[in-house]
Amino acid sequence: MIPLDEARAYILDRCPVPATEVVDLRETLGLVLSEPVEAIDAVPPFDNTAMDGFALRAADTVGAPIELSIVGTLAAGSVAEKEVGVGEAMRIMTGAPIPSGSDAVVMVERTSVSADDATVTVDVEVPVGNHVRCAGEDLRPGQQVFAAGTVLGPAHVGVLASIGCRSVHVYRRLRVGVLSTGDELVTGVPGPGQIRDSNRDALLAMLEDAGITGADLGLVADDEQAIEQAIAVGVADCDAILTSGGVSMGDFDYVKTVLDRIGDMRWMQVAIRPAKPLAFGLVGETPVFGLPGNPVSSMVAFELFARPALLSMLGHVHLERPRVKAVSDGGLGRHPDGKVHFAKVSVSYADGRFSVSSAGGQGSHQLWAMAAADGLAVIPDGDGIPDGGEVEVLLLR
Ligand code: AMP
Ligand code: MG
Repeated sequence: MIPLDEARAYILDRCPVPATEVVDLRETLGLVLSEPVEAIDAVPPFDNTAMDGFALRAADTVGAPIELSIVGTLAAGSVAEKEVGVGEAMRIMTGAPIPSGSDAVVMVERTSVSADDATVTVDVEVPVGNHVRCAGEDLRPGQQVFAAGTVLGPAHVGVLASIGCRSVHVYRRLRVGVLSTGDELVTGVPGPGQIRDSNRDALLAMLEDAGITGADLGLVADDEQAIEQAIAVGVADCDAILTSGGVSMGDFDYVKTVLDRIGDMRWMQVAIRPAKPLAFGLVGETPVFGLPGNPVSSMVAFELFARPALLSMLGHVHLERPRVKAVSDGGLGRHPDGKVHFAKVSVSYADGRFSVSSAGGQGSHQLWAMAAADGLAVIPDGDGIPDGGEVEVLLLR
C-alpha cells in the first residue's frame, strides 16, 4: 500500500497544464481567470444619489429647518438641465446624477413639500457629500479588478458585467467522460443477480458540482472489446475519463487489462478505506481515473483524487476542501489495519465548535450515508476516535 499523499502527488504531477480560451461572460460561472482584469471606466461612473430626496447645497441647511425653492425633478437615467443655486433644491431619485451646484442630498423622509409644490422644508442640517455616491467609489479606472487565478462566482460575474467585460479570458471548462462497467449492472429494472448502475449518475453529478461538463460514456459489460471501445470514444471526445468498477482482483476486472494494454497506467493500493484500489494513467494524452466500483468508494476516490486533479486542470490553485477540527459525538470507532479511514459524518456547528457523528452505515456499498454526510472524518490508523475526542473533517458542503 502507498500513502494517500503519494498517490495524490503522482496524479497531480501527470495532469496536463490547463488550456485557456475566451468565453462569454454568461458561461463563466465556476471558471478561473487566466488573465487579470482591469477596470477601464469608473464604477459608479458618476456622482449619484443613494436616496430619493432633494439635492441641495449643504451650506443652505445650516440652521435647519429651512425652506428652499424646488427647481425641478430628476429621475434615474436623466441628467439635470440646470444648476442648483443658493436657496434651491432639486427633487432627485436614487441613482440619478448629482446636479451641478448641489453637493448633498437630504432624504425625502426629512423634508416636507408645500401644497403648491413650489418649496421644500428641510428638517435637518447635512454635511457636504450627504448620501452622495462618488464616481469610482467601487472601482477606479485602471485598477486591477481581479487577479489571474480568481475563481468566478456570481458576484464576480456581476462585477465583470458592471465594467462591460462580456468576454472573459479563463481556463477552459473541462469535459470529462464517465463510464460504468460490470455485467451485473443495468439501467432499467434489475433481473436476478442484477443491480442498478448508480455510479455513473453520481459521478456525473460530482463533475457538475465541480463546474465540469460530464459526458456519459455509457454502461458496458465486463467485456474487453466493449470497454476498449468506450474508452476510445472518451479519449477522442474528453479532457479526462472516469471509469468505475473492474479495477480490483476479480476474475472479470477487465478495465485493468484494457487500460494496461492501451495506456500508461499505475495501479495503486492506497492506504485508505474506502477506495483502496485505484488506477491512474494516461491513454495517449488523456488522464484516466480507474475508480473502484463500490458506490461509496467511487465517490470517495473522486473526492480525494479526481476532484483535486481536475480542479488543477481547470486552473484552480486551491484544490482542497476546507478541513476543520471537530469533536466526535460518537460512532467513529475502528480497528488498526494500516489505513486512514474516511468516515461519512454529519457535521454540526454550535457554541463555537464543530461536532460530528456517523452519518450511517460506513460500508462502501452503503450509499445512503454518503447522501446524509456533510463531511468525511479523517480517522488515522488505530482504534478510532473516542466519544468526545477530536477529529479532522473534510467539509463536503
Ligand atoms: P468491482 O470493482 O467491479 O469489483 O465492483 C465492486 C462492487 O461495486 C460490486 O458489488 C459491484 O456490483 C459494485 N458496482 C460496480 N459498479 C457499480 C455501479 N456503476 N453502480 C453501482 N454499483 C456498482
Ligand atoms: Mg465489476
